[in-house]
Amino acid sequence: MLCHMAFLCFRITLNRASWKVRLGCGQLIMAARDLAVQAVSLYKGYQIGDVAIQALKDINLDVLRNEFICLEGPSGSGKTTLLSLIGGLDVPTSGKIRVFGTSLSHCDEDYLAVFRGVYVGFVFQSYNLISTLTTLENIAFPIELAGFKDERINERPTKLLEMVGLSHRANNFPSQLSGGEQQRVAFARALANNPPLILIDEPTANLDAKTANEIITLLGKLKEEGKTIIVASHDERIKQLGDRVLKLHEGSLAE
Ligand code: ADP
Ligand code: MG
Repeated sequence: MLCHMAFLCFRITLNRASWKVRLGCGQLIMAARDLAVQAVSLYKGYQIGDVAIQALKDINLDVLRNEFICLEGPSGSGKTTLLSLIGGLDVPTSGKIRVFGTSLSHCDEDYLAVFRGVYVGFVFQSYNLISTLTTLENIAFPIELAGFKDERINERPTKLLEMVGLSHRANNFPSQLSGGEQQRVAFARALANNPPLILIDEPTANLDAKTANEIITLLGKLKEEGKTIIVASHDERIKQLGDRVLKLHEGSLAE
């Protein structure tokens, strides 16, 4: 409800040429021209009982608009945590992070929800599809959440499903799809609101070679479309698609 109210209050107009975002009052809040992501001295810690875990330490990172970044590092090195901070799914313990000019360091959950709806498509490692919704409904869900009630809800999911080659599975539930098919639905859902930033967590880790190839082809298409893409992956083919490969080790970015 609060999230919906935030949407009504913050009448956001996207100017895709310059990615300027205006609030309803007309106040210009950002004009991020070149940088998609800017992280300065970013730390993320977790406390479990008496145990403190530093998941990210002093991350400094600039990602240009339209850049394709491959993020690699051993299990536990902080890849998923970094994607979560960039995608506004979590906030840092300290440091600054700006995504398309919007500071995410001290935002509350309502603000982050609006931000995610406009800017971010997230493909989770475990897909995170809603089990009680059909394929088509899963893809329509972020569009409805963003408050759109027009033909977008009917037309765009169908087009996206076609793009990922799954039109014939529109009315199936996630449990009726293979892992690779669920992954493709997760990609389609991430693109539902046509976000400029796509964050993808280990997309080919659990897939057979043929399905992994399909996902890599899809990543290539997104790159051609000019999306800013950050993928956590060790897949050599994804690394080759990337403009840069960043290495995380024990929560720090390697020089
Ligand atoms: P990766 O994706 O590279 O495998 P993660 O970002 O998932 O690494 O995790 C980095 C570190 O943070 C790990 O030590 C992990 O156990 C810890 N961690 C991640 N999320 C949480 C959480 N919600 N609570 C406590 N510790 C966490
Ligand atoms: Mg991970």
